[in-house]
Amino acid sequence: MIVYKTREEIEIMRAAAQVVSRALGVVAEAIGPGVTPLELDRLAETYIRDQGAEPAFKGLYGFPNTLCMSRNEQVVHGIPDNKPLREGDIISVDCGAKLHGFYGDHAYTFAIGEIAPATRRLLDVTLECLYLGIEQAVAGNRIGDIGFAVQQHAQKNGYGVVRDLVGHGLGRKLHEKPEVPNFGKRGSGPLIQEGLVIAIEPMINMGVKDIKQLSDGWTIITADRKPSAHFEHDVAIIDGKPEILSTFKYVEEALAKQTA
Ligand code: MG
Ligand code: MG
Repeated sequence: MIVYKTREEIEIMRAAAQVVSRALGVVAEAIGPGVTPLELDRLAETYIRDQGAEPAFKGLYGFPNTLCMSRNEQVVHGIPDNKPLREGDIISVDCGAKLHGFYGDHAYTFAIGEIAPATRRLLDVTLECLYLGIEQAVAGNRIGDIGFAVQQHAQKNGYGVVRDLVGHGLGRKLHEKPEVPNFGKRGSGPLIQEGLVIAIEPMINMGVKDIKQLSDGWTIITADRKPSAHFEHDVAIIDGKPEILSTFKYVEEALAKQTA
């Protein structure tokens, strides 16, 4: 069953999403070569708790940390570790927070220092996929229209679209109906209607679409070990149109300061 949200509930969800956006901003201020994922995880957890919110992933299905941090060939669900980030790495940082009973869930893939041009292109195209998907999230369209837009753009660029992991409805649960695949047929799937709130999250591989799970029971990697990128926004349908509840503003501001 899809749970549609009232305007009041969407405003609480916006606040939850903004806690996550700012937590990603805190990560962005500190991230760089030599920093470890565990250090960043602690910064994000402290920030979220200081806002009176709770880290959403910690303890969920047994996940041990606040952030999912997935480096290079890791797609999603990586566990923060003590291995310093290195120049040329990319790392997806996925963060969730629960505030007043509602969830925010939001991810950004960071470049560590200078990265290879081909990897930069993967990040750019994945971000474009996210916004092309969001454009399709209008009342009267269907969920398949989102996946279609994402898949077309990724494949046009020669990339693989992960099939086994998908976006999702969001609300009082972190994962609600409907599933929001990053692939699909135009005009297929559940109808998009007023009050729907979904997490749209393209996971795009530089090489093949196939993935594997590591023996830690969490980390998903690409089958060909080529890099993968992941960006995620929380989107509500208001007045028939997609409104992005989360924002990369704080990340972008922090990264601009770093390079200034
Ligand atoms: Mg997420
Ligand atoms: Mg998600």
